[in-house]
Order: sequence, then structure tokens, then C-alpha cells
Amino acid sequence: MSRVIIVGGGVIGVASAYFLGKAGFQVILLEREPTLGALTTAASLQAVRAQFTDAVNIAMMKESIAFYEDFNRILDLSDHNIGFHQQGYLFVTSEEDAAARMQERVAYQHAHGLPDVEYLQDDELHRRFPYLAPEARAATFRQKDGWLSAHETLDGFRQAARRYDVTIRTRTEVRQLLTRGERVIGVSTAAGEDLEADATLLAAGPFTAQLARTADVDLPLQPVRRHRVVIGEHERIPHWGAMTIDEDTGAHWRPEGPGAALAWAEPEAPSPPRRHVSPDPHFTFRVMEGVYRLNPFWLDVAETLKRDNVFLHAGQYTVTPDHNPVIGPVNERPGLWVISGFSGHGVMAAPASARLLAQLMAGDIAPDGNPYALDRPSLYDGSGEQMVI
Ligand SMILES: Cc1cc2nc3c(=O)[nH]c(=O)nc-3n(C[C@H](O)[C@H](O)[C@H](O)COP(=O)(O)OP(=O)(O)OC[C@H]3O[C@@H](n4cnc5c(N)ncnc54)[C@H](O)[C@@H]3O)c2cc1C
Repeated sequence: MSRVIIVGGGVIGVASAYFLGKAGFQVILLEREPTLGALTTAASLQAVRAQFTDAVNIAMMKESIAFYEDFNRILDLSDHNIGFHQQGYLFVTSEEDAAARMQERVAYQHAHGLPDVEYLQDDELHRRFPYLAPEARAATFRQKDGWLSAHETLDGFRQAARRYDVTIRTRTEVRQLLTRGERVIGVSTAAGEDLEADATLLAAGPFTAQLARTADVDLPLQPVRRHRVVIGEHERIPHWGAMTIDEDTGAHWRPEGPGAALAWAEPEAPSPPRRHVSPDPHFTFRVMEGVYRLNPFWLDVAETLKRDNVFLHAGQYTVTPDHNPVIGPVNERPGLWVISGFSGHGVMAAPASARLLAQLMAGDIAPDGNPYALDRPSLYDGSGEQMVI
């Protein structure tokens, strides 16, 4: 049986541990923090959509959503609740040009496996979503998109992985990769322990490129800070609403229990990977102003908001040049594998991407059947998904 070391216990590392264990690998997962999922996974907005603009990502997210819909049965869990709210994703515009582009996008999505994306405009849009501003001209909507609990998702994978030969060690920091000639043969920990394996999988989120550099490998991954604001209970928030994205600016919000969660992928320069990401305290005001444009009830919320009802967090997206993840072997370094670069999509992509990784490692999928390979020509040509929410 082959032995695999996974570095990183976020949602991607733990989902990978499950699929690799199920495929018959002996797995050791090493996580630096005292708890799993404490870094990027904990900062996520936890939203899940299949409304992508290219066939490869549509297929990946459809597979993941089907998995999430049937999570307990597939993982043989009872009494587990990932809190999957399929209240839809609504991309809204006030611009005529954008409305025309939306119609083309919906036609593409219908032709590529998403027949249930709706194009809504004018009266119908305002009848279905009366909280929108009169300026809202058109939108696309898919009911089966939504959000869930990333923490419960990770924990479900963890529980299911325990049925296989999977060992999870927290408080274990990997300092560097061990090499023998060209090969990566394992890792060395901060406690001075050397662990060897047939394959070493980097699932270290924003720290993935830094770890790869310890074996002289340059991965095209950059951490970029992103914010999230959670607002506690507020009566003016329509709790039945959709994940609502201002397509013209990118500002978005969604219900979160009796309150809401808001985010906005503002332009920001890449930064070094960080264990603690300091938020910009002004972000809360900017994002509320951002969502207010097409959702005017946010003015009422902002005017009556109490400071202790606002929770601001920041984390780091791990970004590739084409905004799609890298999954698979690092060919220049036999024994080294990577699953990272998920931008704002790692929670939604976890089931399908970890399943793909395990099948690649088991040899059940040929390398040329992997659209997320590190050596794909499109990685650097900017042709990938550009909606960075
Ligand atoms: C503000 C924000 C909003 C987001 N919203 C969404 C969303 O709505 N939907 C969505 O799908 N995605 C979203 N994302 C992205 C999503 O959170 C990530 O894609 C996903 O969590 C990545 O998971 P991961 O396991 O790859 O990384 P991480 O969760 O970062 O896990 C990596 C783990 O590796 C560990 N590690 C690092 N270095 C070492 C080391 N040397 N030794 C041992 N362990 C190490 C870390 O401690 C960490 O636990 C959002 C991200 C942010 C920041």
C-alpha cells in the first residue's frame, strides 16, 4: 500500500484524506494549528455555486453540489448537518451591456449542463426579488446554488476518513520537504521529525508555494487578502433572499441565520502567506456601501447597526494566473503533488477536486484527462474563469 503525507488540514486537505483513504492509500495528514480548518476555510463565505462561465468548472461544481445534496448518505453519516441552504445565487446588473452579456452566458450555461439557470429582467425580477433597487435591470438566478457550513463539511469528511487508514495530526508544522535526488521523499517537521512517504501532497492553502520552494519548486500561487463581514440578527434583512451579487461591482451579500454575510473581492496586491490576517477596519463601511447600490435595505441596516453586532474577518485567497486550481503531480519533482489555488472556490470545489486528486494518484485517470494539471497551457494565458467572487 502506498503511503501519502498530506500537508494541511483545511477543507481541501481533509477531503483529500477521505478520498485517498477510500482509494486504499495509507494517509498521514499534518496540520500546524491545534484545530483543523482554522485558516482560509474558517474565513470563507461558505457559498456554493455551479453558475460558472466555462464547462470544466461547471462540471466540477455540479459534481460537488450533488455530493453536498447527498452528503450524509455518501459518507454514511447519521445526524450530521452541513446546513446546505439552496436559496440560490442571484447575479444582478443595472447596465444594459451587462444584461446582454448575461443572456449569452445563460445560453452557454444551458448548453453546458446547467439548464436550470434563469435569466430574469424587469417586472419579473422585481416580483421575485422585491428587495432589489429599481435600477436593477436584469439578473441570472439558479435556485440550487447556495451556502453551507464549511466547518461541518470538513468535519463530515474527517469522520468518514476515520474508517480508513487515515491518521490526522494537529500541532504538527512541516518545515521543509525532504528530497533524494530529484525525488521528494517526505517532510521534516518543526519538531525535528523526518517522515517519509511515496507521495507528499501540498494542501497548505496560502503556504503551499512557500513549502514547495523548500524543494526548489516554483508554483504559480499567490496569496491575496480578502474580507468577510458577518452581521448578527437584524429585522431588515430578508432571510429568504439569495446570495445576491452586484455583477457591476462584485459587492455581494447573503443571509446568514437571522443576519447576513457580506464580501467584496476588491483589487489588492498579493501578500506573503500569513497565519493571522489583519482586516482593514474600513472594509465594513465600504462593503455596506457597495451592496446598498442594488439592495437599498442595507441603508436601514447600516443606520441602525450596533458595533457589537458586526464581525469582520480576513483571510487569503490562494490565486493562480487563470483563477483555477492546480491539482496533480509536480512533474519536475517525482513524489510531490499539489492541490491548491482555489481562489474563492475551495469550499464549493472540495468534493470534486479531492475525488479527482485521488483518482489521479491511484492511476484511475490519465494525466491528459486532468483539466487542472500544473502543466496546462491555459494556466498562464488568462483565459480562465474571471468572476473572482
Ligand atoms: C474572505 C474569503 C471568502 C471566501 N468565500 C468562499 C466561498 O464563499 N466559497 C468557497 O468555496 N470558497 C471561499 N473562499 C475560499 C476558500 O475559503 C478556500 O478556497 C478554501 O478554504 C481553501 O481550503 P484549503 O484547505 O486549500 O486551505 P486552508 O483552509 O488555508 O488550509 C490549509 C491548511 O494548511 C495548514 N498549513 C499551512 N502551512 C503548514 C505547514 N507548514 N505545516 C502544517 N500545516 C500547514 C494551515 O494551518 C491550514 O489549516 C473564501 C476565502 C476567503 C479568504
